[in-house]
Amino acid sequence: MAAKGDYLYAWTTDSGLAKKAECGGAVTTLLKYALESKMVDAVVAVKKGFDLYDAVPVAITDPKDLDQTAGSLHCGTVLMSTFIQKYLDGAKKMKLGVVVKGCDLMGILELAKRNEIDLNNLVMIGVNCGGSVNPISARKMIKEKFGVDPDKVIKEEIDKGQFIIEYEGGHKGIKMDELEDDGYGRRSNCRRCKLKIPRQADIACGNWGVIGDKAGKATFVEICSDKGADLVTKAVNAKKLETSSADPKGIEIRGKTEGAMLKLGEKWRKKDFTGLRDNLWSIIDKETSRCIKCYSCIEKCPVCTATSFKDRADDIMVRRGFLPSDPMFHLRRFAHISDSCVNCGQCEELCPMEIPLALFSHAIRVEADNAFVPKLGEAPYKN
Ligand code: FAD
Ligand code: SF4
Ligand code: SF4
Repeated sequence: MAAKGDYLYAWTTDSGLAKKAECGGAVTTLLKYALESKMVDAVVAVKKGFDLYDAVPVAITDPKDLDQTAGSLHCGTVLMSTFIQKYLDGAKKMKLGVVVKGCDLMGILELAKRNEIDLNNLVMIGVNCGGSVNPISARKMIKEKFGVDPDKVIKEEIDKGQFIIEYEGGHKGIKMDELEDDGYGRRSNCRRCKLKIPRQADIACGNWGVIGDKAGKATFVEICSDKGADLVTKAVNAKKLETSSADPKGIEIRGKTEGAMLKLGEKWRKKDFTGLRDNLWSIIDKETSRCIKCYSCIEKCPVCTATSFKDRADDIMVRRGFLPSDPMFHLRRFAHISDSCVNCGQCEELCPMEIPLALFSHAIRVEADNAFVPKLGEAPYKN
């Protein structure tokens, strides 16, 4: 019987799914079991769209369709929290199983605090995340740094600090550090992120710490709640999933890897925030002068909710027809969201004028974190 606090290796008993899954297929198996056993009404996950740079969020109600979502899309930068809030009524009328990275999780918790998502109706399966790569940058990086046509790539993965591609005729890996020193690699918000293992989910799954004969064939599962323990126990009893205790050496390696990633996150924060600290407002003023007032940053932000802000955005922030935008448009937006910015990067990624918006709001949020609780990504939000 699984219990909160357990560290397990877990793998699916479904041989077809094992071939498609990223590691042991525990994530897909647990979501599938939750749907089959009617623990949830639907599952929210991500599947490959047009190509492997195109991650599509989906809500699945037929367990047979879940195998389509197996595998990790490292160029998938979609945010699950706003998807649940906008298109699934914030899980207020149905129970959902949902796969979450750290940013998805923090967005969900912020929306739950604003009564936009009902946490009681969610089963959250966390996936560790070392970071994702913007799909447009990934194509550019593969062409320029790997010398490979991005359309010829069959598979991508991030393993042991390398971005690795498999393509028609071969495979190639380049160290992430080297890529990032040259201006490629993970999104800048991911580099600064310090929520690598999403322990506020019901379970946290990943590949770090799976060693020995299970390496590459099992998922490392940390049980984070009683709900998570119940799901794993029932899936094992139903013979959908097999588990063993994680190797103590593997647990140690996972801990060290997480520690190294947190140090790296701190290094990137220092690098990105240096220079901003003394000139924050003048840099914001200069960068935001390109704004065309498309409102995408407002629309996509998980901590900016309709009732509190968006409906009034026209009145308080924007004088229609005035370009460049009034600097107060941005200053008011930052004042409104920066105290709870989760550094998900959506505002920056979707800004057509490539304004480093997440950098600004994250820098302000980190300053607030020095003085106040809850700290970003660390708060015991659960009710
Ligand atoms: P599967 O059964 O194959 O299920 C994978 C699940 O992930 C599916 O539900 C799928 O919908 C979902 N998914 C795929 N892409 C995304 C995405 N972009 N956003 C949200 N959900 C997605 N583990 C580590 O230990 N260290 C890491 O550094 C690490 N980095 C990761 C980075 C990214 C961007 C992602 C998506 C995952 C990362 N993982 C990392 C987790 C790891 O790749 C596996 O997802 C995890 O071990 C579960 O394996 P599995 O075989 O049980 O999953
Ligand atoms: Fe995400 Fe940007 Fe909103 Fe911060 S301000 S939560 S980075 S969309
Ligand atoms: Fe302006 Fe960019 Fe926001 Fe659009 S997304 S309103 S261009 S800052």
